[in-house]
Amino acid sequence: MPAPPSPRRSAEATATPPIDQSAPARPSAIATTPLSAKTQPPARGPTPPSNDDSPVPLTMHLPHPDLVVADVTPLQTAPRTPCPKCDVRVRYYCSTCLVPSGPAVPPRMPRLPFTLDVWKHKYELKGKSTALHGRVLAPEDVRVWDYPSETDTFDEDPGKVLVLYPSPQAQPIGEIDPTSFTHVVVIDGTWYQAHQMVRDAPFLRRPGVRHVSFANPPKTSFWRFQQKSEQHLATIEAMWWLLREYQLAHAPAELTTYDNMLWYYTFQYQRILGSYEADQQRKLNTRLKGAFRSDLDAARGRARSPTPGGQESGDGKGDSDVKRARLDDDSAAQPAVDVHNAVAHPRS
Ligand SMILES: [Zn+2]
Repeated sequence: MPAPPSPRRSAEATATPPIDQSAPARPSAIATTPLSAKTQPPARGPTPPSNDDSPVPLTMHLPHPDLVVADVTPLQTAPRTPCPKCDVRVRYYCSTCLVPSGPAVPPRMPRLPFTLDVWKHKYELKGKSTALHGRVLAPEDVRVWDYPSETDTFDEDPGKVLVLYPSPQAQPIGEIDPTSFTHVVVIDGTWYQAHQMVRDAPFLRRPGVRHVSFANPPKTSFWRFQQKSEQHLATIEAMWWLLREYQLAHAPAELTTYDNMLWYYTFQYQRILGSYEADQQRKLNTRLKGAFRSDLDAARGRARSPTPGGQESGDGKGDSDVKRARLDDDSAAQPAVDVHNAVAHPRS
């Protein structure tokens, strides 16, 4: 394992060090029964909860079965609080400053074995990118760069940089000498945008830059329907799985060390799936795939095929239910769902 990378420039606002007040990582303790609407959460910060802060039901399912994440329930009752940097009132973290906000303190992440450089396409909205979770949770080792306005200043040794991109020459991370790279570029954009970036970005075309792909990716648990396969992961899922495959190769006894990269993601997943579980009649888009879909089918105790009384929508209307269930339905400064999936998928 290479030495932990030294602190370096952030493409975003200066990071706030993680606050070491979190509970140790443990299997998520999920509230299966929503608190009464009359039960007000205790005020844990200077800003009292507003009337729209009633707790949401969370599913018991985890987005991935063996995930080991810290308790996400503090996010259930998190009120909006002013961002410590820009003062905009946000509920979980500021998607502009990329710092946590409010009483729900993120779990402390250990240093990553390499730097993750998220190259975010200019058409990707900050409020809709799961990749930003990585920066909020691991500010010392995750950087976010806007493409193409900032990536021209990306100045690393090309021979030390991997790009998560499933080209024919891509290798699984477990087959790459861990001392031979220090940075992994993760592209945050649609598949087409990623293809353009790899083709056109001068740095990514430089000799020495290698491509990395997944050996054995899981099914995505992302809640947005997509046209691609179940192995097309949301960007933060891809960042987490890259670390999982690295650990599997180099520290298998510590496989789950970086699972808290999915802390915000797990909360979103459990909230959205929980909202479907709580409403058995809610229509679900038939194009939803992967673990989210199968978990919901299991939760509803029926097969995938449509049944009377719980008919599924194949006309796209079901997706509007997902949109209504989004975390960021009333604010651009909230963690949100990706509008696409990350480009990371297995070599085929
Ligand atoms: Zn802010």
